[in-house]
Amino acid sequence: MTGPLRATRALVRLAAIRSNVQVVRRALAPPTRLWAVVKANAYGHGAVPVAMAALEAGADALAVALPEEGWELRRAGVGSRILVLGPILPEQAVSVVSADLDAIVFSPAVIAALARAGSNAGRPVRVHLKVDTGMGRVGARPEDVAALAERIAAEPALRWAGLMTHLADADHDEREWTRGQYQQLLAVVEALRRRGWSPPVHAANSAGALRFPGLQADGVRVGLALYGVAPWAGAPALEPALGLQSVVTMVKGVPAGFRVGYGHTYETPGPLTIATVAAGYADGVRRGLSNRGAAIVGGRRVPIVGRVSMDQLTLGVPPDVPVHVGDPVVLLGREGALEVSAQDWAAWLDTVPYEVLCGIAARVPRLYTPAGDASGRTTGLARPQM
Ligand SMILES: *Cc1c(COP(=O)(O)O)cnc(C)c1O
Repeated sequence: MTGPLRATRALVRLAAIRSNVQVVRRALAPPTRLWAVVKANAYGHGAVPVAMAALEAGADALAVALPEEGWELRRAGVGSRILVLGPILPEQAVSVVSADLDAIVFSPAVIAALARAGSNAGRPVRVHLKVDTGMGRVGARPEDVAALAERIAAEPALRWAGLMTHLADADHDEREWTRGQYQQLLAVVEALRRRGWSPPVHAANSAGALRFPGLQADGVRVGLALYGVAPWAGAPALEPALGLQSVVTMVKGVPAGFRVGYGHTYETPGPLTIATVAAGYADGVRRGLSNRGAAIVGGRRVPIVGRVSMDQLTLGVPPDVPVHVGDPVVLLGREGALEVSAQDWAAWLDTVPYEVLCGIAARVPRLYTPAGDASGRTTGLARPQM
């Protein structure tokens, strides 16, 4: 039995991931540890292939958000260190320890649970003490760090593998707030050092690591940049790794005054070709792109007209542009000099590129081009990997 052919697919160029890892690597002062952040299915790109490519290209270790994301990598045979960035509950300690994951801690309860799980399993557990220096989300208050450090030090099953914080605004801030966060972290580092403790320190995400080299400390946790999205306007050149493509399923030439889609939110101002495309919000092409977004077809960047529906959307193509059923459509990515970027979507949707990439639905098959193809384009339909 052959599987169904899928018109809509995400093409992931692992060569771009590797090249972005190298760009970041070159911006780091050795021996800064590079944690490649592959949470949320590698920002929608596919956790396992991206993790393998990142390690091959020179990342030292991986980071995920959830223990189960760490498990997925372990099951695929990943042997590197894997840090779980998200807070865990005491009942998740056994799962963290059995997959040999690094965990963050900021509460006595989780420290105790990890210590118990580690001693039961007869293996040391690496913990990273998280300090809240101004993100206001998770992490111990600086004044509570010393007491937590005592607890970690008192547990023979725990290895104190890191002291970390998370920057709240490294991509926008004109330094003051970010530096303030870092100063607070350094004050904690200094207080710990006076007591004889000096765990490795890490604070910076993509924007922090690339914009503020002074904040690289002993390690950086880089996600967005690996996927080729510039964390701020002045970032070094990166290659977008993901292309989202579909095909034209119907073409019709219509006169002025023709209404398109649910709610009749679009009416043609003059003669137009309506090209229907086999992708919709169930694929992650968000409904907010209705009458706002654009896609590339027939060598042109053309607007999305009418409402994006669950499985389909409609493009308004100038009548002189030849389009045919079966033509490829680039929803995200490049074709020649034309591009629709995750930043474009983010602007149209009033969100961030992170949400755009994570929002590519699970039903969209991910296809990998190891060698890399500059256009990111393939022809024909894709067979999902089942
Ligand atoms: C997601 C995450 C990162 C990576 O952030 P980018 O901006 O994608 O580089 C780093 N640290 C923590 C704690 C995170 O949750």
